[in-house]
Amino acid sequence: MLPKRDSWAEPYKIKMVELLKMTTPSQRKEALKQAGFNTFLLKSEDVYIDLLTDSGTNAMSDRQWSGMMLGDEAYAGSKNYYHLEEAVKEVYGYQYLVPTHQGRGAENILSQIMIKPGDIVPGNMYFTTTRLHQELAGGVFHDVIIDEAHDSASDFPFKGNVDLNKVEKLVQEYGAEKIAYICVAVTVNLAGGQPVSMENLKGVRNYTQERGIKVMLDMTRIAENAYFIQQKEEGYRLKTIAEIVKEICSYTDGATFSGKKDALVNIGGFLALNDYDIFEEARNLVVVYEGLHTYGGLAGRDMEAMSIGIYESVQEEHMKARIGQVFYLGDKMKEFGVPIVTPIGGHGIFVDAKQFLPHVSQDDFPAQALAAEIYLDAGIRTMERGIVSAGRNSKGENYHPKLELVRFTIPRRVYTQAHMDVIAESTARVYERRNQIKGLKMIYEPKYLRFFQARFEQL
Ligand SMILES: *Cc1c(COP(=O)(O)O)cnc(C)c1O
Repeated sequence: MLPKRDSWAEPYKIKMVELLKMTTPSQRKEALKQAGFNTFLLKSEDVYIDLLTDSGTNAMSDRQWSGMMLGDEAYAGSKNYYHLEEAVKEVYGYQYLVPTHQGRGAENILSQIMIKPGDIVPGNMYFTTTRLHQELAGGVFHDVIIDEAHDSASDFPFKGNVDLNKVEKLVQEYGAEKIAYICVAVTVNLAGGQPVSMENLKGVRNYTQERGIKVMLDMTRIAENAYFIQQKEEGYRLKTIAEIVKEICSYTDGATFSGKKDALVNIGGFLALNDYDIFEEARNLVVVYEGLHTYGGLAGRDMEAMSIGIYESVQEEHMKARIGQVFYLGDKMKEFGVPIVTPIGGHGIFVDAKQFLPHVSQDDFPAQALAAEIYLDAGIRTMERGIVSAGRNSKGENYHPKLELVRFTIPRRVYTQAHMDVIAESTARVYERRNQIKGLKMIYEPKYLRFFQARFEQL
């Protein structure tokens, strides 16, 4: 059973508040026009409740803030680096650590080391920056997530799972030596924060070990994934989140990590490895792109805050409240009849724009248009996760993802239950007038990761 509303009160109290600006509908209309109907281009000041992302938007604890004052800002060998190394060993069990400024810094280094031009990189659904770094290194990404992940209405509890038949097909077609590694994300962001089961992770481990293929984890939201395993998977109910997190890592060879999610900081990331040879190369490459191997683009204070956040992220009560809040919002949305991806995932609510706006064709960017309308209603900022985010393939054609979603991402420890009510009510109002919502036309398209800076006009 997942937590019910009365069981997830926050295991903290509020010490400081940040005041928000309230806007009028006409101010929002103007702001949206200025932003080219792209919520990434809105000024934060013009946003009331910011659900653009849970990345780097977390509230740090008093302990993390104290840690900021213990920053050892030495160029080399900062003691905060050693604290972080200890946290990574203790909580995740990886032997070697290379800090990076954020997750994509680690993805860049890993891709450059592990991928040769023409290599195949299977992954359980793409993630924007991850796939781009794989492609920039000459790799070809192949989606090997189970089919249920692409079906927003499937209630399968572990929609993040890897389909080993799909991996086997790639091995048959290209040979195991052509596979750079398999990239396993926990939880799967673009599928709606969907978890991977431990059974599946073990299966991937056994399969790849026999064939000499390495498993690299994208463990950006590993503690959230561990919570789902604890709640839903047989045999894990009495295990702690910390134990489950460590077990997940034990089935992999290394991991990229964005500290901006699970680890409750505003900036930071790392590459963690068990293989000394890969580590040695990574430690060498990090000085080219990020900084010396004992800071990797981070200030000492940031490494300290991240080490403390790592320990806080695996606390039972924290995760129960974190995911409890997401479920609270999702249940409210469902009550209002808003079509959302089910089961509800870890870091937010994903509204199904295809169902919400069935009259808008995917080429007219329904999720982008819906995110704009949601901002207009009450100043709530969400994000498109559909055809705009999916981008184009190497031939320049648009990818047409099955999922066309608007993501309501919940920052950790930032908003209250009353905010969740406002969000659900505003979305219900937009749903009421859904038939009047039109699609968009893209009038500016950047070459890389276009969703960040593209501009649109109403059709
Ligand atoms: C955020 C994220 C990344 C990239 O991390 P950054 O810190 O934003 O560079 C990689 N994978 C997943 C699943 C993410 O959510």
